[in-house]
Amino acid sequence: PVYGDKPDIIREKSAELYERAKNYFPGGVNSPVRAFKSVYGTPLFIEKGDGSRLWDADGNEFIDFCGSWGPLILGHNHPKIREKVIEVMQNGMSFGAPTALENELAELIIKNNKYIEKIRFTSSGTEAVMSAIRLARGVTKRDKIIKFEGCYHGHTDALLVKAGSGLVTFGETSSAGIPKAYADETIVVSLNDKEAVKAAFEQFKEQIACVIIEPVPANNGLLLQNQDFLEFLREICDQNCSLLIFDEVISGFRVGFEGAAGFYNIKPDIITYGKIIGGGLPVGAYGASNGIMSNISPEGGVYQAGTLSGNPVAMAAGIAQLTELLKSGFYKEMNQKTLEFTDSIQRYATSKSYKFKVFQIGSIFWFAFTEKEKIQTSEDIDASSMEKFKMMHRELLNRGIYLGPSGYEVGFVSAAHSKIDLEKAKRAIFESLDIVFK
Ligand code: PLP
Repeated sequence: PVYGDKPDIIREKSAELYERAKNYFPGGVNSPVRAFKSVYGTPLFIEKGDGSRLWDADGNEFIDFCGSWGPLILGHNHPKIREKVIEVMQNGMSFGAPTALENELAELIIKNNKYIEKIRFTSSGTEAVMSAIRLARGVTKRDKIIKFEGCYHGHTDALLVKAGSGLVTFGETSSAGIPKAYADETIVVSLNDKEAVKAAFEQFKEQIACVIIEPVPANNGLLLQNQDFLEFLREICDQNCSLLIFDEVISGFRVGFEGAAGFYNIKPDIITYGKIIGGGLPVGAYGASNGIMSNISPEGGVYQAGTLSGNPVAMAAGIAQLTELLKSGFYKEMNQKTLEFTDSIQRYATSKSYKFKVFQIGSIFWFAFTEKEKIQTSEDIDASSMEKFKMMHRELLNRGIYLGPSGYEVGFVSAAHSKIDLEKAKRAIFESLDIVFK
């Protein structure tokens, strides 16, 4: 069928695979936002990725701006990562015992990041955040935590309260199955709201273990915070002997090698990582000073473990990826390339008087159907604007451009996007905007 001015892509094989998947998985998927509920059509089943490109089961080719939701900063199937992974796999895939590869990845990170002195690898971002919260509680001997509305920190019970990501997509602000007592320990305040944070600290004096924030909130649109708000969080945590946690699962190694901590030059007490750190394989991590990390088992009393933590194959992928990121000029080039891309989209939209803004930081961008100059809280987002995203998503797929299937999700530029890719994407975006605003 034709909805815009191009026929919809063929999805016969994807649709067939999806029907089969529904027999095996709830909603046919292993992670909710993949189900394409917020956009048209059935989910695309991906067969292959290479560089900036993705191919689905029907052979459709796309320039990919989802990048597996962030990890693939070098693009798909990067030869350096593939070769290192294959080399390491020759010796076996898991030992449940230490390997030199863990040291190597840790050294790469710690030597190039002044914000942490010790690190612990986990197998996902969720685990990293869950462990960081436990650590903060263990260190401070306090139970309550402050989080911000619209920040997503994985599917940890205490943090699935007014989170973003798939939850926003499905119009829910929480999840079933979380004991009220857990959620009661989580105080939720609005982003960019100093007074609300102050009030929470006053109401729960000496009870707040930590404040956790995505310093670059990127799971509910891209809600870029003012530098002074993040500095304020640092100060108020210090004044109250609470710990500040930066959840850098997205921003880590993305807005710079030192992530948002380096970008804003603010030292949090604990930082969590995921996505990029694993080069596309399942890795998360949390890091802090020697003093704080000495509380983790077996050195200290805060227990945290993992059968596959520090898995050699995953470490190999992380080592290969981070080695590339440390090459001189990497981030400068990425950031410049992204800025040129987003600027020219913004100029086009503005020239046509479309109510459309592109927000950007580093190689992260977000398309918002709005007239507002700034969007810094989840309340600033007009839910009805997501209908426009839905149309745009279809038009872009029809033009060979793949974005994450929700208007609340950000896009990622990778090192694999060439000038030609970005030109092609821009043209497709311009045409799609013309259709959406017709
Ligand atoms: N924290 C942030 C900021 C995230 O964006 C995510 C995932 O998108 C997580 C935590 C959870 O990471 P994972 O999906 O690897 O469990």
